[in-house]
Amino acid sequence: MIIMIKIVIKINDLGKIMGGLGSGRHFERSNRPYVEHSQRLCISDLNRDGFLMGNCSLLIKWYSGDNVQREAELSVSDDGSVIVCFGDHQLNVGLTTTECHFGGYRYWWLCPLCERRCGVVYWEESGLVCQQCAGLAYKSENESDIERLRRKIRKVGRKIGAPDNLIEAPTVKPKYMRARTYVQLLQKYENLKVRLYSSIEGFL
Ligand SMILES: [Zn+2]
Repeated sequence: MIIMIKIVIKINDLGKIMGGLGSGRHFERSNRPYVEHSQRLCISDLNRDGFLMGNCSLLIKWYSGDNVQREAELSVSDDGSVIVCFGDHQLNVGLTTTECHFGGYRYWWLCPLCERRCGVVYWEESGLVCQQCAGLAYKSENESDIERLRRKIRKVGRKIGAPDNLIEAPTVKPKYMRARTYVQLLQKYENLKVRLYSSIEGFL
């Protein structure tokens, strides 16, 4: 018999995980409210405790001040999508992965409306959708930060032959580059991308 562990996650009105499990350094990256919308679900917040491997279910509560605004229970289905139950409704949100340069995978939501990859989905009338389908805008100052970061990543990426889409990994060391330089640039590229993933709320 498999015992399903249920983990409760509370998210405040800035989209930040509140206290207890999930507080602390690991989750700081999802704390910055780049998009002025609180009821969101960041895939990196869920990728822990074996949730995406189907080892536990999550009860997520979105708060406004002290009041619960929304509640949903999440579990992983056999086909690898996430089942989201709220009230009498149930919806499935697909997942996909991309490989990280230094091993492992990065998980992504597949937006149920446009089917594009995204790191964060938002509650809308119809369910959970990506930032673009939800029609949410970045604050302009944050947008320029993100754009700067993207430019920086592309600049480093070009040196090591990475595609401009910022998702696919560079695969081959440029012929005349020293191996050490390549590894250093690759590490820099990866670190910058982690920074981008940490701050971005929508598409790459
Ligand atoms: Zn979408």
